[in-house]
Amino acid sequence: MSSDLRTLGVADLSRALAAGATSSVEVTRALLKAQEDQRHLGAFLSSDPERALAAAARADALRAAGQAGPLTGVPIAHKDIFVTHHATSGLPSTAGSKMLAGYASPFDATVVARLGEGQAGMVTLGKLNCDEFAMGSANENSAFGPVRNPWDLQRVSGGSSGGSAAAVAAGIVPAATGTDTGGSIRQPASFTGITGIKPTYGVCSRYGMIAFASSLDQAGPMARSAEDCAMLLSAMSGFDPRDATSAERPPQDYVALMHRPREGASASRPLQGLRIGLPKEFFPPVLASEVGQAVRAALSVLESLGATLVDVSLPRTELSIPVYYIIAPAEASSNLGRFDGVKFGHRAPEYTDLMDMYKKTRSQGFGPEVKRRIMIGTYVLSHGYYDAYYVQAQKLRRMIADDFQACFQRCDVIAGPVAPTVAWKLGGQGDDPVKAYLADIFTLPASLAGLPGMSVPAGLADTGEGGAMPVGLQLIGNYFDEATLLQTAHALQQATDFHRRTPPGQASLGA
Ligand code: GLN
Repeated sequence: MSSDLRTLGVADLSRALAAGATSSVEVTRALLKAQEDQRHLGAFLSSDPERALAAAARADALRAAGQAGPLTGVPIAHKDIFVTHHATSGLPSTAGSKMLAGYASPFDATVVARLGEGQAGMVTLGKLNCDEFAMGSANENSAFGPVRNPWDLQRVSGGSSGGSAAAVAAGIVPAATGTDTGGSIRQPASFTGITGIKPTYGVCSRYGMIAFASSLDQAGPMARSAEDCAMLLSAMSGFDPRDATSAERPPQDYVALMHRPREGASASRPLQGLRIGLPKEFFPPVLASEVGQAVRAALSVLESLGATLVDVSLPRTELSIPVYYIIAPAEASSNLGRFDGVKFGHRAPEYTDLMDMYKKTRSQGFGPEVKRRIMIGTYVLSHGYYDAYYVQAQKLRRMIADDFQACFQRCDVIAGPVAPTVAWKLGGQGDDPVKAYLADIFTLPASLAGLPGMSVPAGLADTGEGGAMPVGLQLIGNYFDEATLLQTAHALQQATDFHRRTPPGQASLGA
């Protein structure tokens, strides 16, 4: 069955492995070949084929011994913002930055450890390209080059988890990890036609995730379907005493929760009783008409499955942009203070004294967007401006979170677009970083509130240039209600085939 292997999702592979229809070694070999064939995408930063094949062989042996779990032997790759133990994986951890080029981590991030050998048993195929320190919306801020969108090689894959999104969309991996600080799982998922979920802040451990903005950073799965995401999230989430902001909750079986029938539901109306809130601010005139159309079409499918659409309002949606672009750089400027050439990564080869070493190291190691954010962050935290910017932004952050709670009085899930447009052209935003910041408008509110958010494929939009690009439907849930998001997305995916569409020139995805 080797010709299909690249098109199978996590759940499909889990079933195929359990049925003995394929082996982890066979799948791993096929995907390593796909990785090689699709180098032009720029999705991978590192891989160690020999170790991956050896891990796959051990997974097959576990299965033969009757000790396999649902994810044993299923391949995955990690956004290069998660550290991976260099001595066992052979993989460096770079955060997409020259500052950490070749950095050998002495341990695995909790998420990596939970998904890997000895725990869930997945086989790591390598590390994925991302924007430097996860700062960006197009993966053009990576020090190691951009990632191309498999749907149109002239377009961006989204960011900052662009490598993860492109690798899944192109069939190089069935699933990948991502991180989302202000949209970096949802937006690249939307731009490449895959499914991704950012859980509630605190659900996945941040231990070993190279920090960008600690009060916002969250890990999550990126895969082909809601079912795949539910399987992965069950394995990667849960309390971790090594992360001070980890939520103390019992482990969750998101697959079971996703399948739990709703009261009054039937086979044809699985979403009976579900109230979906549509914030009017998520459908502004700047929303590209083809994106609006795809989102509305997906919403009417949800309606036909039993959901009711209600109008709600998130009046401070536009303010999310200045609020986020004060708070995130403030935290980043503090987090990145550790890269001073003393303990981690790059050190300037030549310098006169300690201060000169700091200056040269940081000037050489960081790219322009990271420097911009360090400057903004240092400014808004400085004595004279702290009250005017940082404190005001924190107050507004609370009000944005309260606005969501007012909405959740009237609905169970909030829906809208993920981004105002489809993936733009490489270099399309010129030198204007503010253009990229503005495109984050629909993902930032849930991040600031710490709420779970998901991107679900909602079909293709005509580019007007003879091509079509994917559009994502965003679903936002209340705290710790990932299950309702997954259930809603799963119902949509049972009724439509948007998530099975593949980039031109690829075989269609399996069931
Ligand atoms: N685009 C946003 C930024 O540049 C979000 C990035 C993210 O979620 N990591 O900060």
